Amino acid sequence: MHLFTKENTLRKHLDFVKAEGHKIAFVPTMGALHEGHLSLINLAAQYADLKLCSIFINPSQFNHVSDLKTYPRLFDQDCHLLEKTACDIVFAPTVEEVYPPGMDFSLNLDLGNLDKVMEGEFRPGHFKGMLEVVKRLLDLTRPDYLIMGQKDFQQFTLVRHMIRQLNIPTRLIIGPTLRESDGLAMSSRNLRLNPEIRTRVPVIFDQLNFLKKYLLEITPGTLVEEAIKVIEKSGLRCEYFQIVDALTLDKVTDPNNHENIVACTAVWAGEVRLIDNLLLKGEIN
Ligand code: AMP
Repeated sequence: MHLFTKENTLRKHLDFVKAEGHKIAFVPTMGALHEGHLSLINLAAQYADLKLCSIFINPSQFNHVSDLKTYPRLFDQDCHLLEKTACDIVFAPTVEEVYPPGMDFSLNLDLGNLDKVMEGEFRPGHFKGMLEVVKRLLDLTRPDYLIMGQKDFQQFTLVRHMIRQLNIPTRLIIGPTLRESDGLAMSSRNLRLNPEIRTRVPVIFDQLNFLKKYLLEITPGTLVEEAIKVIEKSGLRCEYFQIVDALTLDKVTDPNNHENIVACTAVWAGEVRLIDNLLLKGEIN
C-alpha cells in the first residue's frame, strides 16, 4: 500500500498508473475507519483495480469547533485496517495541502433545495464545506469511480448533483449502510456513545423499519409523528425525521406520487448526534 501526504507526489503516482491503463476507484473518508468504510473499499474493488482512500478531517464541514476537536483520530489503526482490506493507495494530506493559503476553492453551484432541508437546516455551511472538499479531492485524484455510503444520504445526493452540474467525468457508486447486529448504523461517532445510551439507540433503526412497513397504510405525517414519539420516549432527542423523495428530497405527502422514497433522521443520543436513513420505496440512483 502506498501512502501519500503531498498532492504532487500523489499526482505523479496516479498519472503513472493511469498511463499504464489502471482504473481508479476513490473512497473519501475522515478516518476513524470501521467496517462500513472498509465495505466501500471492497465495493471499490468490484469497479476498479486500484482502490484509493483518502483520510482527511475537513475542518470546513464542521459547524462546531467542539465536534471537530473531539472527532476521533486513529491514523495508525486506519492504515493498518486499509492495508488488511487490500487498499492500494492512501492519501492523507494536511489542511494546507488541500487548501493552500491564498487560494479560493469556493464553488458556485445551483443546489436548489437540496442543501437547505434536513441536515442543511441544522448544520449551516456543512454541505458547502463538504462539496468543496469532495470537488478538491476529485480534482486532485481524477478517479474513474467515486464510492460513497448510503449512510449519508443527503451528502451523496448533493455530490451526485454536483457531478452532473459540473460534468465531472467520474461515476458515483453508492454502497449500502453497514449496521451493528442491533441495527445501529456504524459510525465513527458511535465511539463516543456512553454504554447506557448505547443500549437505547437501536430504536432509530426500529422506527425507520416501522415507517417502511406502514408507508402505504398510514399517512407520512402520522407515521413520522409516531416515530418521533417512540424515539423521544427512549430518552433521545429527534432533531428531524422526514419522509422525502429520494431524488429531490422534497417532503412526501402522498407516497403514490413518488417512485423513490427515503426516510431520513438525525437524533441526539446524549452529546452525540446520529444520522440514519432507510429507503422505503423504489431504489437509489
Ligand atoms: P466518514 O468518514 O464517516 O465521513 O464517511 C466516509 C464514507 O463512508 C462516506 O461516504 C459515508 O457515507 C460512508 N459510511 C459511513 N458510515 C457508513 C456505514 N455504516 N456503512 C457504509 N458506509 C458508511
